[in-house]
Amino acid sequence: MFRGVFAMNPTCMVCGHRFEREPGFFQGAMYVSWVLGVGEALVLALAAMFLLAPAIGLPGAIAALVVVHLACVPVLFRYSRVIWAHANIGTLDARDPARLRRLDRNRL
Ligand SMILES: [Zn+2]
Repeated sequence: MFRGVFAMNPTCMVCGHRFEREPGFFQGAMYVSWVLGVGEALVLALAAMFLLAPAIGLPGAIAALVVVHLACVPVLFRYSRVIWAHANIGTLDARDPARLRRLDRNRL
């Protein structure tokens, strides 16, 4: 699905499925990203508060939390798009002419 940290292939290399089915398709992935990001930040905040803050102080713990959270952004981006694409795979119209053409092309 991905060919770089943030760059996506336009279609699946195996079946030809077009990932961005319509302009703005991946805007919905922002909701998935928000949920994943809040969960991850909550876990990081608890770890920073109870594990780091007693040892290095609150400002250091907050700085470490921000650095780790920013390092996780590419992972959150990629997984949110993968989850969004899989959550919507069932909404594909099997009779979609463009999809049928892609399938025929891949059979040759
Ligand atoms: Zn595929």
